[in-house]
Amino acid sequence: MSEKVGTCQYEGCKREPLPDSKYCICHEKSDDKDIEAFNREIEKIMQNKDVEFYDFRGFYFPESFDFEVIYRYLEDRTFDKGVNFEKAIFYSVDFERAKFLKNSNFSFAIFQRSVNFKKAIFDGETHFDGATFQGMTYFTGAEFQLAYFKGAIFSKKVEFINAKFKRVNFENAFFQKEADFEVAIFKDVTFFERAEFQEKANFRHTKFWVVSFGESKFWGESHFEDAEFQETIFEFVIFDQDTSFRRAEFQEETYFSNVTITGNINFMDTIFKKRVDFRDCRTVEKINFNFYRTEFHDELLLTIIEGQPLLNFRNTRFSDKIWIGAKTDLKNAIFHFSRTELVDFTDAIFPEKIYEERLLEKKFHGQLEKDEKEYCPESWQEVSTIYRKLKQAHQKYGDYAKAGEFFYREMECKKKSYREEQEWHWNRVWLWFYKILCGYGERVKNIVGCSAFIVFLCSFFYYLSGISRIGEGVIKFSFESGFSLKEFGYSIYYSIVTFTSLGYGDIHPLGWSHVIASIEVILGVFFMSLFVVVFVRKMSR
Ligand SMILES: [Zn+2]
Repeated sequence: MSEKVGTCQYEGCKREPLPDSKYCICHEKSDDKDIEAFNREIEKIMQNKDVEFYDFRGFYFPESFDFEVIYRYLEDRTFDKGVNFEKAIFYSVDFERAKFLKNSNFSFAIFQRSVNFKKAIFDGETHFDGATFQGMTYFTGAEFQLAYFKGAIFSKKVEFINAKFKRVNFENAFFQKEADFEVAIFKDVTFFERAEFQEKANFRHTKFWVVSFGESKFWGESHFEDAEFQETIFEFVIFDQDTSFRRAEFQEETYFSNVTITGNINFMDTIFKKRVDFRDCRTVEKINFNFYRTEFHDELLLTIIEGQPLLNFRNTRFSDKIWIGAKTDLKNAIFHFSRTELVDFTDAIFPEKIYEERLLEKKFHGQLEKDEKEYCPESWQEVSTIYRKLKQAHQKYGDYAKAGEFFYREMECKKKSYREEQEWHWNRVWLWFYKILCGYGERVKNIVGCSAFIVFLCSFFYYLSGISRIGEGVIKFSFESGFSLKEFGYSIYYSIVTFTSLGYGDIHPLGWSHVIASIEVILGVFFMSLFVVVFVRKMSR
């Protein structure tokens, strides 16, 4: 090469440029360049025994290029040396069953049409960082040791079905169409941090060891059904559409903290063997947050700081290290048949009536909507049981005030369940009294109200049947003299004195008033003691 002609403008290239071009035959970005000349250059590279790696950096492979030109120099498509295709531009590639025994570099390569790496084996360090895959891409059944796909862009559907990875890094990778990783195996550390899935992401039946999806965004449906995880991080992830982890297994600690969930999310039959962290989740209303039959073998920390999702804990298997609390609005939570009595609900927000009670009420009014049917309990007895467990849970963690409220609802539902049975039941009468007298031992105001009522009622009777005041004689209502407020006042005064069994003796009963006074004094003693018991119990909590 003479200095006059100069060299190709591509960095580090010493080839002669083509006439009327700054670039050599290899780097010229033209589809109608001389394919024979191009092939000769490729052959030179393949034949050169002195270099450490096949250097195709920045090459432009035209449409007419046939990969057989390369394979002719390789045994069984096996690259015994490293390959460097950095910034190369391909039309379509066929690396099916190719073996890269040493390092391979496809960083910032552009694949313009379909990409075939089916069953390719990458034994060395592999780089696809910043590569752009513009056609359908197949890594189906490919095997990687240490692979980097950082910031790679997949514009069409990509298949990694059945692929095997040891360490792999998909940080900031951008999947514009479906990404299919079904049955893939990730044997070591895997990074999908800040990756973005614009359409469906399929990780069904995949096996992960340590994996981080931190800050990644799933804008389409995502599927992790039957996947197996060891240590897993989904922190700050956005699940925009429906997401399923059905039957997935998490063997080690799992982090879902700070996730944003705006589609339904399904953990049905999922197993968490170790601690799982769902703190500070953000959701929207009406989505299903489904933990149906989910098994929590260890700790669960769940707080939802935004939204009131339909939290389905039906048949959930809770361990005794569960915390669902801190501002988590449980307006639409379902706790049917789960071991709620073990749960720490510190600072969780419960509605006055739990979702299941509201559903059952709706059912009786014939207003149950179709999608609500599956969550509706069968009977009031069942709702009552849920309340009893919630009561136990709150007692366990020392929130007796809330426990009292749940006891009240438990009794209310029990009362309804007797009514439901339609049979005469002494318990029903007892519960009715129990509620009116003292709100199942929870309502001091009921006792006060009942006492006031009795005092007032008795004073009426005294006024009608007559009492006698020392110095003033008989106090009794008569039509001739009409109603006297002063006299009625004395009746009330006498009633209070009797009710509290004070008995000053300045007024004494006449006729039937003896009977009323006897009854009132007994009731008075009863209500006074009831008041003391309930009041002291409530205060001592
Ligand atoms: Zn060149």
